[in-house]
Amino acid sequence: MKHVKLKSDKYKKARGGNSRILKISCSNCKTNIFSYQKDGIGTLKRVYIDRIISEQSIIPANNLVCPNCKKVLGTPMIYKKENRPALRLILGAITKKVIFSV
Ligand SMILES: [Zn+2]
Repeated sequence: MKHVKLKSDKYKKARGGNSRILKISCSNCKTNIFSYQKDGIGTLKRVYIDRIISEQSIIPANNLVCPNCKKVLGTPMIYKKENRPALRLILGAITKKVIFSV
């Protein structure tokens, strides 16, 4: 990744100052799935569609499936509090690594 431009908006502000870019991989086959901007602290239970950094398009209504081993990694949801499309991650299906932190 050459340039990472962090998104700064109402969602980021709602979660406090810090953001990290995480590299999300499939736990099963280690394939890189996408990078993700995580705002604020707390565990990663869901990923918001607008924070996914990916060259392939992520379709919010579809299950997130590993392109290599076809394992389902997440299921579509709407985070009601913000009416914000997200993917609920399946426990243990993904591994994450911090690649950038501000
Ligand atoms: Zn996989």
